[in-house]
Amino acid sequence: MYCPYCEQGKIVKAIVKSSGELIFICEECDTVWASHEKISSHTGLFFSLYADVHNLEPLWSELEVLQ
Ligand SMILES: [Zn+2]
Repeated sequence: MYCPYCEQGKIVKAIVKSSGELIFICEECDTVWASHEKISSHTGLFFSLYADVHNLEPLWSELEVLQ
């Protein structure tokens, strides 16, 4: 599935290493969706914002990509 924001990036499933939370993230623009959220252009937030809220560095190394 492709990202509804940038329409170029593939959305991948990932686990936040520090919290174990399952998220979806766009490989291109780094938009994050929580696993319970419906992926659309009305949901999701930037990885930097998500990281800020969850006390992480906004780095892909904080994530374990599952697919
Ligand atoms: Zn995107």
